[in-house]
Amino acid sequence: MHKFVSVALDVPINKLFDYKCTFDNPEVGARVKVPFGRSTRVGIIVKIFQNIDNSGSYKIKEIYDLLDDIPVITPELLKTSKWTAKYYHYPLGQVLFNSITPIQRKNQATPKKKYEQEKILKPESLMLNDEQLKVVKSIDKNINKYQVHFIHGVTGSGKTEIYSHLASSLLKDNAQVLILVPEINLTPQTVSRFQKYLTIKPLEYHSHLTSLQKYKVSQACRDESQLIVIGTRSAVFLPFKNLKLIVVDEEHDQSYKQNEKFKYNARDISIVRAKNFNCPVVLGSATPSFESLHNINIKKYKQYKLLNRFHKSKMPLITIVDTSVDKPDEGLSKVLKDKMKSELDKNKKIILFIGRRGFSNTVLCSECKTIVKCPKCNTIMTYHKNVERLICHQCEFSQKFDSVKTCCDKPSLVPLGVGTQRVENKVKELFPNKNVLRIDSDNISSKKELKNFIESAANNKIDIFVGTQMIVKGHDFPNISLVGIINIDAGLYSTDFRGLEKTGQLITQVSGRAGRQKSQGNVIIQTNNPKHNLLLKILKEGYEEFSKVALKERESVNLPPYSHIGIINISATSKYKPKSILSEIVKFKKNKSVFVYGPSPAETFKKNNAYSYQIIVGSKSHKLLSEHITRIKLYLASIDSKIKWYIDIDPAQ
Ligand code: ADP
Ligand code: ZN
Repeated sequence: MHKFVSVALDVPINKLFDYKCTFDNPEVGARVKVPFGRSTRVGIIVKIFQNIDNSGSYKIKEIYDLLDDIPVITPELLKTSKWTAKYYHYPLGQVLFNSITPIQRKNQATPKKKYEQEKILKPESLMLNDEQLKVVKSIDKNINKYQVHFIHGVTGSGKTEIYSHLASSLLKDNAQVLILVPEINLTPQTVSRFQKYLTIKPLEYHSHLTSLQKYKVSQACRDESQLIVIGTRSAVFLPFKNLKLIVVDEEHDQSYKQNEKFKYNARDISIVRAKNFNCPVVLGSATPSFESLHNINIKKYKQYKLLNRFHKSKMPLITIVDTSVDKPDEGLSKVLKDKMKSELDKNKKIILFIGRRGFSNTVLCSECKTIVKCPKCNTIMTYHKNVERLICHQCEFSQKFDSVKTCCDKPSLVPLGVGTQRVENKVKELFPNKNVLRIDSDNISSKKELKNFIESAANNKIDIFVGTQMIVKGHDFPNISLVGIINIDAGLYSTDFRGLEKTGQLITQVSGRAGRQKSQGNVIIQTNNPKHNLLLKILKEGYEEFSKVALKERESVNLPPYSHIGIINISATSKYKPKSILSEIVKFKKNKSVFVYGPSPAETFKKNNAYSYQIIVGSKSHKLLSEHITRIKLYLASIDSKIKWYIDIDPAQ
């Protein structure tokens, strides 16, 4: 007797499709080849039933082929995916296709190649200090059940060693362990730190792997009951079968949130998976996200504090430079330059941190006083000196510097503000005998460049690092004695409600790079606002006290973590369409504990000739928020297909 199957497809529709299955033993989670319209597609079986109500007018089609004997989606992953689809208001089919690897998305049987475990013979023994031991013991007591453990430990307190210890003792028996890191550049370093203490080699999972490598890791997760995976956010969707521990390192990091297409947060999904596997999840950070602090306060998470640095080095000495008095030359104030000189004379290493990529590296016409903007999307253009071009970081439109003639008759363009490249040039001019390395995504985009960079940093070859966010993420560079934060003001006066939270994390994390080994380090922060309340708070009393005040501000305006919010974003080539549709949506009947702000122009208002507007929908109750968004989504499904929209739950930008 044939059966019927409900199949999820990789299409942006909230719907499953039913087919007749004449093959033996179809299983939930297996891939099938099916007719869809006039094309053939790969689908994933999510339900099997014996009979179907086929009294309707349509004729049920048959599946062409059953592609897997062993399902690619495990029952637990299907459960997580269903939760995820509902929570993020994203189609189940697209959630499931996001979890499988590129090879599995093709409509063919998959290769027989298998991952082979390499044995490492002699793990080093790991001696923990008392603070670390206490945490390990306490987590160990609850190692076989679901609980969120939060390790709030100052930078350099040795959180990684705690994770390694937990992982290595679990891996002595059959167990799978997942370690998430926020950035791909952190994987090599994390792998080598873990593998010292393990008997098996960790598997890496991130976007630099080839399709085949990804496929092998995915197969291993499904088939091997003993392994450890270290990966970036996408690893949270691997088809584990025997997961006993998840670690999310630097949990506050924004990189866990995917901002394109499927807008999930891997930290939050890891908690759902831990619940499904009934295993612990360990979150770690020196600067917990405000969401996590809230969950600690309401006792949802169990908190452990590490107050001391492992190597007993003191926290750095912080100096503030008032840039309205000590005016910077190409980003560098006199105080900073002098300190750099004295540290370099002692053969010490320096980090100079600059806000965003090419931040403020705008070009002004000194004739007509206008700032050069992208002709396609109206974003301020960024000047890149090495290629003599203006590049739009929004749509990547680029133009030769001397060919810009849009502003007036006699354009005379001068770059304003500082970007990484200008600081790099200045530093090279000031210290011609020192090795300077710029680290930003323009400079380091491939695996090879990254490897070179990590090697040269580890080998003490670089004297001065100049860079963006990339620098601060967890790298353990030796010998850094001075960190200069070129300009903190953009963060202090950001329009984003998370601006202050991020700035507090940044100052703490960047400072944590200074003097990690023996001697006390120095941090110099340049600002126009040396009396800023919260800046002083964080410097004098630390991140935790700062966060208490900043959290109160959040509470007073009813923003996360004191409410749940979602963004509805609509864009169209007509400037008026998105706004008028959103104005309709705002009028929808809603529970009185649901609030709506907007419509207002989106952060990136114009992109590739389309205009976007958004509203923010929020509520203290996630359930009510979700219900209201479901109503909105039904309406959106009925509008003109030329109008683009998306929903972003728990937005991070
Ligand atoms: P965190 O991740 O908390 O910022 P790290 O894990 O980078 O801190 O630890 C700081 C330094 O201390 C690292 O160089 C690390 O190798 C070292 N360390 C921490 N714990 C131990 C330990 N138990 N044994 C040996 N070295 C340790
Ligand atoms: Zn542009």
